Amino acid sequence: MTAYADFYRRSIDDRDGFWAEEAKAIEWNTQPQQVCDYSNPPFARWFVGGTTNLCHNAVDRHLKDRADQAALIAVSTETNTEQVYTFTQLHAEVQRMAASLQELGVQKGDRVLIYMPMIAEAAFAMLACVRIGAIHTVVFGGFAAGALASRIEDASPKVIVSSDGGSRGGKVVEYKPLLDDAISQSSHKPSAVLLADRKLAVMNIVAGRDHLWGALREKHLNAVVPCEWLDSTDPSYTLYTSGTTGKPKGVQRDTGGYAVALAASMKHIYCGNPGETYFSTSDIGWVVGHSYIIYGPLIAGMATIMYEGLPTRPDGGIWWSLVEKYKVTVMFSAPTAVRVLKKQDPALLSKYDLSSLRALFLAGEPLDEPTAQWINEGLDKPIIDNYWQTETGWPILGIANGVEKKLSRFGSPGVAMYGYNVKLLDENSGDELTGADQKGVVAIEGPLPPGCMQTIWQDDARFVKTYWQSIPGKMVYSTFDWGVRDKDGYFFILGRTDDVINVAGHRLGTREIEESISSHPNISEVAVVGIADALKGQVAVAFAVVKDASGLVDAAAHAKLEAEVMKVVDNTIGAVGRPARVRFVTVLPKTRSGKLLRRAIQAVCEGRDVGDLTTMDDPAALQQIRDILS
Ligand code: AMP
Repeated sequence: MTAYADFYRRSIDDRDGFWAEEAKAIEWNTQPQQVCDYSNPPFARWFVGGTTNLCHNAVDRHLKDRADQAALIAVSTETNTEQVYTFTQLHAEVQRMAASLQELGVQKGDRVLIYMPMIAEAAFAMLACVRIGAIHTVVFGGFAAGALASRIEDASPKVIVSSDGGSRGGKVVEYKPLLDDAISQSSHKPSAVLLADRKLAVMNIVAGRDHLWGALREKHLNAVVPCEWLDSTDPSYTLYTSGTTGKPKGVQRDTGGYAVALAASMKHIYCGNPGETYFSTSDIGWVVGHSYIIYGPLIAGMATIMYEGLPTRPDGGIWWSLVEKYKVTVMFSAPTAVRVLKKQDPALLSKYDLSSLRALFLAGEPLDEPTAQWINEGLDKPIIDNYWQTETGWPILGIANGVEKKLSRFGSPGVAMYGYNVKLLDENSGDELTGADQKGVVAIEGPLPPGCMQTIWQDDARFVKTYWQSIPGKMVYSTFDWGVRDKDGYFFILGRTDDVINVAGHRLGTREIEESISSHPNISEVAVVGIADALKGQVAVAFAVVKDASGLVDAAAHAKLEAEVMKVVDNTIGAVGRPARVRFVTVLPKTRSGKLLRRAIQAVCEGRDVGDLTTMDDPAALQQIRDILS
């Protein structure tokens, strides 16, 4: 057996022994009594009896050996600011934030919603929450009032931490009016709002509710707020993600299992060492931002770069200039970002000294071969694809170079990662497909390893039903992705089995976009599908039935209504959900039982065979779409 095959086998066959060993990488206040309690499947409880704290492991424990080493490097090419916080400084800022949250009434178990741009205060807020045992819910700053309101409603935060605004491509995006709108839409009202004032926009302060971070920070300049020792199984955060229904799911993560999983992944997968610098270009609003901007690198004693700005401003060399300046050893990005850079001057790739960089990891969406090859040749560094989900918190498929050096294969995110008992299952029979090159649903046999979701926030039943009962006759976790495994164990991901699409690495539910579009007064029905796109992987395209089509007399009228519909999406979900096109039809293709045939629409749009349409109600509906496209 090779070293990795042996390591992997041990993680499955001697699960508890394996993870007990990995658990030594973090500091516990009380040692766990039991490695994994799986007496109530599919609910796994990791490191039962242990008490620890994520902030302690990310910040305090490093004060001993690396107090003056950089911990957080906040770079904004939008405001042209760059600030380096050492572990000592980060420790102080986090305590100031923790004391401020406490003054606003936040206690252990309370939720704090964080709606922030990529600024240092967002990191302080996340770390402050876990320090005092509050559960943070970060909402991506690109989401608009409607999406934010539904998350406020579900998470019922005591306090919301936000800011006057962010900036993108030199344009200020005001957050405060969106936040106020979202709070007014939600039946739950936070008791306080804490605002970082970047002086990007004038804020309308609600007396008695809104507080300025600057003032509270001043007041708590010398705050000493000890870490709350939490049970390993206490929730650390929730993070909302899209699924088949319109209502986003609050993925709930634990404390001890997550800390152990991240520490292990930093060692075995990302190979980052204390004292080095990690640069993940994601956003704290996504899972990569949680695991590999904030917690993973800091737990490993690395400095982490938080970047606000575009990859192309001031020019396409900005990220590489940061690699040179901060001697980045590990970098993490998404295929879309690389495709954006591909359009820039290739000389920018060789302009900087990238000798510190060991590897570039890419995840979040399929990595196409030309993109992988281009960046591989341009950087002359290993490009490592890894496949995972918000739900899992760390890679399901990848290459564990820290265990055994393996080459990535273009088009494949790699092999099953240790701890994940990955299976390919027949979608109808649930039978396991063990042969090479068979297509099936990528599934994981329980228990999910440490660091994965515990449940859906406040909805155990939905957790079980959604993830564990979708495959007939088996209680097994479904990733909702199609996959193929070759004879050497390398997987290839072939896309989602559900109505989730992936636009530029952002996961969106087509139902969410449909619900938003349906709120336009002149739209009666709509189908949204994801269509292959050379730059973004996929884009959303909507086909809508108008209630009153009498005004749709010419191209200008179509364009006007299309713009109106897009605006509705901008205002409810945010520009991330905006369809690339909205086309108007008189009828949508459905089955005789009334189910939308999204897959058939998608196939027509992508010029593929539509497959079996015997259950289709009205063939003219699909023909209309063909006609529009031609
Ligand atoms: P998210 O929860 O936003 O991270 O999205 C997870 C989904 O993104 C997965 O279920 C896949 O559909 C897709 N995905 C993530 N990483 C990869 C990858 N390396 N290759 C192909 N698809 C990926």
